[in-house]
Amino acid sequence: MTTTNILCKSRADLENWFKERGEPGFKGRQVYDWLWKRQARDFHDMTNLSKALREELAAAFEIPGLRTDVTQVSCDGTIKSRFRLADDHLIESVLIPVPEEKRFTACVSSQVGCSLTCSFCATGQMKRMRNLRAHEIVDQFIQVNMQSEAHFGHPLTNVVYMGMGEPLLNYAEVMESVRILNQEMEFGIKRITISTAGIAKMIDKLTEEDVRFNLALSLHAADDSKRNTIMPINESNNLEALIRSLTQFYNKTKNKITFEYIAFDRFNDTLQDARHLAELCRHFPVKINIIEYNPIEGFDGRKSGEDRLEIFASYLQNKGIPVTIRRSRGKDIDAACGQLANKG
Ligand code: SF4
Repeated sequence: MTTTNILCKSRADLENWFKERGEPGFKGRQVYDWLWKRQARDFHDMTNLSKALREELAAAFEIPGLRTDVTQVSCDGTIKSRFRLADDHLIESVLIPVPEEKRFTACVSSQVGCSLTCSFCATGQMKRMRNLRAHEIVDQFIQVNMQSEAHFGHPLTNVVYMGMGEPLLNYAEVMESVRILNQEMEFGIKRITISTAGIAKMIDKLTEEDVRFNLALSLHAADDSKRNTIMPINESNNLEALIRSLTQFYNKTKNKITFEYIAFDRFNDTLQDARHLAELCRHFPVKINIIEYNPIEGFDGRKSGEDRLEIFASYLQNKGIPVTIRRSRGKDIDAACGQLANKG
């Protein structure tokens, strides 16, 4: 007998399942709460249901949790996990702890691989195998949250969709995962950030839906000719289109936008680049995260020197733009930005 994945069922589906068996619908709501509010991954843990009902559920449904394949702990405390999905595909998630600021962030994947082929990114060298289901995204959060509790005695404070894959190309499942995190698991919406390589029409869709989470754009170059060379998606979604969509997004949602900017030595870290970047920040309030580049095989960019980074960041700060320089975390275990590629 084949079983059905219960983690893909809505609350209404489960209510109906019980009603069809002559049971009250609220039992379906109880099961749904067990799955998401209490994160049960075994029917036998659902102790407010009779043993017979639990057995009936176990015969009809499966709960395909993530299986941990490899966990690596960096010398800076960053933890990278490789998870095996029910169909044996592998994905990666990262816990980025900053205990001194009581900030514990999960970086989760939204796809197996990625179709966007950004040249500096190890994931982009893999093929996109498939989109993740909402529950596979939320289960990464649940697993990383357990790691955060176990290693640091503190639950996650933030989640960023910045792991493997382009979240806006898996729109429906990503949105459903955000809904589960926020509405079922009561994780604050302002603690959730979706990071996109920049797909204008999908940003427009977020605007139409008036979402409340934070949006980050992986910018990495502030003029089209440079951006085209490292992010092919820019050829069909150029900066003018992205800025137009982001302006509308800001005007409707009033959510601050973050630009992620990996600094590459003498490629995008000159004063001229800083001027272009400042220009892009004129349209709406922006926070800039400058990220140290982490080398990957097959891309010959180098990371910017300290002095160049300081000059670049100061130019922007003097224009009143908030800038953070993010030193790379988890480099020794290939857990830093752009390094996720299931290398193990
Ligand atoms: S940077 Fe993001 S969008 Fe680009 S290839 Fe890597 S995972 Fe995909």
